[in-house]
Order: sequence, then C-alpha cells, then structure tokens
Amino acid sequence: MSNIDVKPCPFCGSDLYIFNWIDGPDGEPAIRWVECMKCGSSGPEKDTIPEIVAAWNAALRQPCEVPA
Ligand SMILES: [Zn+2]
Repeated sequence: MSNIDVKPCPFCGSDLYIFNWIDGPDGEPAIRWVECMKCGSSGPEKDTIPEIVAAWNAALRQPCEVPA
C-alpha cells in the first residue's frame, strides 16, 4: 500500500487526505473515496483504493472551469 501515489488535493492543493468508505451489507467496504482533510473535498466514489486514487489524480489534471 506504500507505493500508491496520491496527488495533492485538486481543489486546495493540500496533501493531507484520508481514504474514506461506507460499509456494505456484508460489513466490507462497498464504496470508497479520497477525502481532503483540509477543505473536505471528496473524490469520485469507486470500489477499490487504486480506483479512487486514479480518479482523484485524474481530477487534478482537469482544467479549471473559468467563466469566459
Ligand atoms: Zn482540499
């Protein structure tokens, strides 16, 4: 688990984050997401940690929506 590269928060730039999850009916984590500990932003919800990290990192690379 130590080789997962989590990018800084795409919203505030903090590198303080947690892996959050909701347990399913069987007691196993069913939904996971990365959550920023500084601004509270949440990444996309996925099934596995590699997926939520990939989605979080991808969010970083999306250009900001700036009104014209
Ligand atoms: Zn943040």
